[in-house]
Amino acid sequence: MASRELEVVHSPQVETPPSRGPLSAFLDRLIGPFHRGEAPERKPAMGFYTDTTVCIGCKACEVACKQWNQLPADGFAWTGNSYDNTGELSATSWRHVKFVEQFADNQPPEPTGNGRVSLDDQPHDVRWLMMSDVCKHCVAAPCQQACPTGAIIHNEFANVYIQPDICNGCGYCVAACPFGVITRSTLSGHAHKCTLCYDRQKDGLVPACAKACPTASIQFGPIDELRERARRRVEELHRRGVPGARMYGSAPTETYTELHSFYLLVDRPEVYGLPEAPFNPWLHMLGDYFRTAIAGAVTLAVPLAAFLLWGA
Ligand code: SF4
Ligand code: SF4
Ligand code: SF4
Repeated sequence: MASRELEVVHSPQVETPPSRGPLSAFLDRLIGPFHRGEAPERKPAMGFYTDTTVCIGCKACEVACKQWNQLPADGFAWTGNSYDNTGELSATSWRHVKFVEQFADNQPPEPTGNGRVSLDDQPHDVRWLMMSDVCKHCVAAPCQQACPTGAIIHNEFANVYIQPDICNGCGYCVAACPFGVITRSTLSGHAHKCTLCYDRQKDGLVPACAKACPTASIQFGPIDELRERARRRVEELHRRGVPGARMYGSAPTETYTELHSFYLLVDRPEVYGLPEAPFNPWLHMLGDYFRTAIAGAVTLAVPLAAFLLWGA
């Protein structure tokens, strides 16, 4: 027998607990899953500040995310619309680098005789905006509020995390997200999105996408520090002649809470495919619940009143 195997054989054996009656074992199996585990100790809120002005569109973040989370490729199709061929966030693309190609007259430059576009011929008012998009880790997350099974939680780092084993695939979260982030997998049937690398954070590691970004466009850290860093960067850009520089999601609005993944943009949010004023669908739904309750009460009250008045 090899020495390692001998070590194992002679190591102290774990004492097996005394066997319990079949009724106790049955009750354990029946009730055990409903026992609440001990909540992990709360940590400082962590998140992302994405400075789109320094993103070069290399897509290292997308690749790092796929690699770390072992997400499959989405095929090798050309969209035909852009040099960005990922297209959108999905159950298997938890990061997506958007290429926003802006031309002064909304027309791309004409190709030359050989069918190519020469960079020398491009007018100066052509610009490409790059933005690495991801789940916004909303402080009050509509996806979490809409989930009927409790599969979506805020974890100890104040990030929005999906527990796929509890997700029943109903898709309520998909409809609730105002950013079109969360998607249901056609393979597993469960909803998926960025986990903010919960597994890496628990081991004290920086999320894979932020680690891979060569320009520090994606910055990870305690939210309060990130907000201060972003505020200084906006001031600097204004001084350097970029009047359009602005924050997106770093502060709450009338209809939405702040985001734990917020952005520095240089144009209106719609230009980047972000809603100017995101709206939490729950604000509509509370009114719907109220109206439904009133309608139900009236429906019961009318026959009851009729019975009391004329039925007796
Ligand atoms: S961006 Fe969408 S998926 Fe992400 S936490 Fe907010 S509501 Fe949920
Ligand atoms: S934090 Fe992790 S899961 Fe989220 S986009 Fe980055 S690499 Fe992917
Ligand atoms: S790795 Fe950084 S620079 Fe490259 S596309 Fe992603 S955010 Fe942009």
